[in-house]
Amino acid sequence: MGNLIINKSMARELIDKNGVDVDRLIEKLVNAAVAELSNHYYYTILRIRLLGAEGEAFKKIIENIRNEDRNHFEALVPRIYELGGELPDITELNCRRDGSLHNSLINELCVDSSNVRPLLETLIKCVERSVKDYTEICNITCGKDNRTYALAFAILHEEIQHQIWFLEFLGRGAGEIFVGDARRGSSPFVSKFLQAGNNKLEAGQQLI
Ligand code: ZN
Repeated sequence: MGNLIINKSMARELIDKNGVDVDRLIEKLVNAAVAELSNHYYYTILRIRLLGAEGEAFKKIIENIRNEDRNHFEALVPRIYELGGELPDITELNCRRDGSLHNSLINELCVDSSNVRPLLETLIKCVERSVKDYTEICNITCGKDNRTYALAFAILHEEIQHQIWFLEFLGRGAGEIFVGDARRGSSPFVSKFLQAGNNKLEAGQQLI
């Protein structure tokens, strides 16, 4: 247990020495993790509510993004704790997520799923917000905190992919999506961080 505490403060100290405002960075990482968890939650509801021909094709995109956003959440959490941060209590989640975008999502969920365009526009805004947030985290950590930078950059790659999937759907419609792209939904960029996180947890358990 003692070793874990030393490791935590060392990570913080090293980054602090490099000139990163660690509290600000932790705040951004926590907000990003909460946003990923909220997205996963709303995509779960959305997936169930989407019916009809266009809805069915759209559901595949939602399912892939839902899986990858869950991975983003799980990859962020170990880094937050390594830096000495922690996740908020579940009752605080509402204050931290972007209420306006998710309220729009809830409203769109009531819309006829044979026309997913209004919903798609709201989802594109959500992804644009994520791209902006991870770009900021990359800018804060570039050359100063290699570990967080590599993680945020990997997530950023996948968020940009999500943006492309939505825009493809918006441009082409339901007909031409997903031909032979098995990697979608499997976090090709972030998966290595998930393994690292699991190994770390196992190492921690042995220490205790
Ligand atoms: Zn994500």
